[in-house]
Amino acid sequence: MRDRLSVVVSAYNEENNILPLHRRLKAAIAGLPLASVEYLFVDDGSADGTLERCRQAQRDDPDVKIVHLLRNFGHEAAMTAGMEYASGDGVVFMDADLQHPPELLGEMVKRWREGNDIVLTRRTANADASPLYRFSARLFHRIMRLLSDTDLPADTPDFRLLDRKYVELLKQFNERDSLFRGLLAWGVDMDRLPVIEFAAPGRRAGESKYSFLKSLKLGIDSIIQFSVKPLFLSLILAGLTALFAAGLGVNVVVERYVLENPTPGYATIVMTVLIMGSINLVVLAIIGAYVAKIHMETKKRPIYLADFITAGAGPADMPGPPGEREGPPCPG
Ligand code: UDP
Ligand code: MG
Repeated sequence: MRDRLSVVVSAYNEENNILPLHRRLKAAIAGLPLASVEYLFVDDGSADGTLERCRQAQRDDPDVKIVHLLRNFGHEAAMTAGMEYASGDGVVFMDADLQHPPELLGEMVKRWREGNDIVLTRRTANADASPLYRFSARLFHRIMRLLSDTDLPADTPDFRLLDRKYVELLKQFNERDSLFRGLLAWGVDMDRLPVIEFAAPGRRAGESKYSFLKSLKLGIDSIIQFSVKPLFLSLILAGLTALFAAGLGVNVVVERYVLENPTPGYATIVMTVLIMGSINLVVLAIIGAYVAKIHMETKKRPIYLADFITAGAGPADMPGPPGEREGPPCPG
């Protein structure tokens, strides 16, 4: 059946956006041919009044459920949490800042009910994107395309609808730091999926949570997460350095013994030490980045810790998520 919908909203310090978003979602969903809807607000350890606003929405509307992460675990973890607690036949993922217009849900649900298991969206414009942001995003995609085996489609945000079938598939991954949308791109041919285009307005209130450095970290993480090509690149780099060193060695021998013209050598030594040293460090850093990922993965810690709050029930009444994840995400 395709008539029970979950809407997962990840929110970090979005106190002024929760209630307007909830209102617009309800308006957009009223009249759709659905048997039930649940709004899953994932409060990603907000420091402002986000949780209280979610509770306020829940008091007026028992369809609101809250996944309260005990600290800020990050956008990816928040969406994973929402996905694990969602119980609908189809799950929509969206941001809390109204950059993902709720009015598109009608079209998304229509395509889903027509038989599409995944409905994507594509941003044709983003009112909040500065020229520097657009440039870095394009650069990142170029680098990603070169370095990764998984082709992440550009301008395809997390705003999408997944049928239960794919939700269950994604739940099997259980990776930390996994780029949520990358996992889907890894598993299916994204080019063949239905896409709804939209122009993203500016965020309604508050500030973007993605600083330049945070976006850069996400970019590097996603390259490491989806590819081992950088390790092969470091191998090539090491090979080139060895060739350079061999050439320099021959040059020194020829100068000294054949041409009997020993160079003073100072500049050569300094250059060689610097070049060898920095290439060594680059290769070590690349290996280190992978070792760090292995280190984090082997701990097998839960991706998040959460309370699940439904209307009329306190967080302590609820066990961990209904999924198959090992370990107890809910300490209560
Ligand atoms: N978000 C989150 N946890 C975080 C950072 C962001 O849940 O640690 C949420 C945020 O509240 C928003 C969505 O992720 O709903 C996208 O973040 P943002 O709008 O700041 O990103 P941008 O649109 O500027 O790329
Ligand atoms: Mg935003």
